[in-house]
Amino acid sequence: MIVKPRIRGFVCITAHPQGCEAKVREEIEIAKAAKNPNGPKKVLVIGSSTGYGLSTRVAAAFGSDAATLGVFFERPSMKGKPASAGWYNSVAFEKAAHEAGLYAKSINGDAFSNEIKAQAIETIKADLGQVDLVVYSLASPRRTDPADGETYKSVLKPIGESYTNRTLDTDKGEVSEVTIEPASQEEIEHTVKVMGGEDWELWMNALDDAGVLAPGAKSVAYSYIGPEITWPVYTNGTIGQAKKDVERAAAAITKAHDCEAHVAVNKAVVTQASSAIPVVPLYISILFKVMKAKGNHEDCIEQMVRLLNERLYGGDLQLDDHGRIRIDDWEMEADIQKAVADVWPEISSESLNVLSDFSGYQNNFLKLFGFGLNGVDYEEDVEVDLPMPSAE
Ligand code: NAD
Repeated sequence: MIVKPRIRGFVCITAHPQGCEAKVREEIEIAKAAKNPNGPKKVLVIGSSTGYGLSTRVAAAFGSDAATLGVFFERPSMKGKPASAGWYNSVAFEKAAHEAGLYAKSINGDAFSNEIKAQAIETIKADLGQVDLVVYSLASPRRTDPADGETYKSVLKPIGESYTNRTLDTDKGEVSEVTIEPASQEEIEHTVKVMGGEDWELWMNALDDAGVLAPGAKSVAYSYIGPEITWPVYTNGTIGQAKKDVERAAAAITKAHDCEAHVAVNKAVVTQASSAIPVVPLYISILFKVMKAKGNHEDCIEQMVRLLNERLYGGDLQLDDHGRIRIDDWEMEADIQKAVADVWPEISSESLNVLSDFSGYQNNFLKLFGFGLNGVDYEEDVEVDLPMPSAE
């Protein structure tokens, strides 16, 4: 079929298989150009199909020839409809890894469940023996806790008082004002249940109990801090509480296991998760313009190559006062933040394309779903029903 983008708010409900493959291959070339022989060798990536998790998988496999097992929750093609982008990304990743002689398998299912943890452990036991790096990169709006069967939902809300700021309707290209009411205590607790560190700990306990965690292994989960303008809805909001809990979990994992667990604070990038956060896409559009002008703009793959090669496996963690790895260092440079803050009060729908890199944001967004890639003929009929190579 001929696949075109069909955007609904901040999601695109279609994905292009060849475009996703082209995007994954672009990331692979970047990872290959920065080889790190000291990198991880056997890696489990939880949340490996899109965004930061996918790029970590690419950086480990093609930067240090790592065997990778990926876990994700994606939609294969059904009834002739295109699969989700993360499915196509994972098909493309496995195909490229197998061509390069690298082990790559994937598990599609709910990472919060006991069943998927057990399946991952069985696969590691059978194929890899142990893993020396566990990457935890889930971003989910809900979690069913296997302990009580209850489904918790996360919200992106401020805490204590309502928050009003400028926001961007990325579909219409309109800047407007948004007011978000504060979260209830229950909403805060539920967001911590979904996006906090509990499930990361459950994974690490299960892996260690099963003997599939290599001695001296490393683990990393991702966080975000960003500029003060977004703090009420991010760092000081419900999601920020969850991220504090991820930091708590990192310390608990390091204490409980022969494993060095870290939180890496990453740069703001366009992903399916970040495009859903109010205010953040406007900040990202301005940030991209400022960072591109300075020449230090990065996407997920450049961030993850730097994280693995320079920090986690480069002997130079550069931890902050809270013990976190700051790979958002370039984003947070004072001149970058000042330039964004100067533009912030000025920007409007009319000046959006002049004062920000909104077109860069849009291109990035479309690329998440495999659209707008060079060398892909979008008028061509493509096969949308692609099986996962490792399942064949
Ligand atoms: P993303 O939406 O691109 O990726 C989420 C991944 O989680 C996908 O692989 C998806 O399949 C998987 N997933 C979701 N629910 C699942 C489930 N129940 N079972 C199995 N897999 C599931 O998100 P992202 O932006 O790459 O976020 C990853 C992490 O990086 C998050 O912790 C996020 O807070 C953090 N982070 C993101 C940014 C940003 O700007 N996007 C910045 C800093 C940190």
